[in-house]
Amino acid sequence: MDFTSTLLLWYGAHARQLPWRGTGNPYHVWLSEVILQQTRVAQGTAYYFRFLEHFPSIRTLAEAPLDEVMKCWQGLGYYTRARNLHKAAQKVVAEYGGELPNRFEELKKLPGLGSYAAGAVASFAFNEAVPALDGNGYRVLARVFGIFEIPTTTKGAHLFRQHCFALMDKERPADFNQALIDFGALQCVPGTPDCTVCPLTSSCYASKHHKQLELPLKATPIALRVRYFHYLILLDGDYTYIELRRAKDIWHSLYQFPLVESTKPLTGQELAAKSDFKELVAEGAKILTEVPETVQKLTHQELHLRFFILEGRPADMSLSRFERIPLASLPSYQVPICIAKFLTSEWAARFFLTTTTQQ
Ligand code: SF4
Repeated sequence: MDFTSTLLLWYGAHARQLPWRGTGNPYHVWLSEVILQQTRVAQGTAYYFRFLEHFPSIRTLAEAPLDEVMKCWQGLGYYTRARNLHKAAQKVVAEYGGELPNRFEELKKLPGLGSYAAGAVASFAFNEAVPALDGNGYRVLARVFGIFEIPTTTKGAHLFRQHCFALMDKERPADFNQALIDFGALQCVPGTPDCTVCPLTSSCYASKHHKQLELPLKATPIALRVRYFHYLILLDGDYTYIELRRAKDIWHSLYQFPLVESTKPLTGQELAAKSDFKELVAEGAKILTEVPETVQKLTHQELHLRFFILEGRPADMSLSRFERIPLASLPSYQVPICIAKFLTSEWAARFFLTTTTQQ
């Protein structure tokens, strides 16, 4: 039996039951694909339902304020996905009457839809015969056919797409693409797969040549950037100060406390002696407590986070950057997940958010 028939037969017996499969609703398919781009299915499913509850149609998503969309996305990370989702929904309403276009080439013009997501929506929702290759698909094809190209390069991506298209059952593009994804997720897993129970083992290049760990080829990893964030929670009576992150960096469009970033961890004393601190905080501020460091890992960054709770106000020169807000309103702002977690911690409860002020 050839590759395609074997794969589809396997899929018939092992397909994952996912809530957005078989709905035929292009919006649902699109939403699930955006959420799952860098998120595990188990975590993504809860967000999928939460989004549908808040924004049941493309039009409601397009008409919602960005703040609301970001709030709904909070905790999922990679916030550019949420901004693009919102922008794309507005474009769909403005240019396509609120209906997603049904062709791959048109879908690719929407913000945030690359080849994979556009292919997934085109094939899953509209049955167009186009590849939808994610990491799972690349892994399966590279191993079975011995493809020694890096899938993330332009040349590699083109080659894998050509290969995928040639193999595709053009009558069943949705099943074929989903089968490839599920096969990679369940059978031909990263690391060492169990080739003894695989229906493709007799024809698989990697299995024959023991190349499972080598394929697919990977791009040279980007060096990890280690950063030290010192957040200053300025208590000014019942008020505090926050700012919107605007720089082209992580957490764009989310709120944060005044921040001092450095190349090494700082104690309260070291922090208070720094010029950055003096530019941010008015003289006479008193550090009430230093919260022990926590570490957050992102794909290419490692963040060492320290929160300092102070009595004080921003220095005059930095005042315009900050919004003075009631402490009790803090939980209603869209903040990075590390700050959201901190706001529900014992430290916050003890120093400035009483149980009655928390959401
Ligand atoms: S034989 Fe092994 S490496 Fe080849 S497709 Fe099956 S699980 Fe993957």
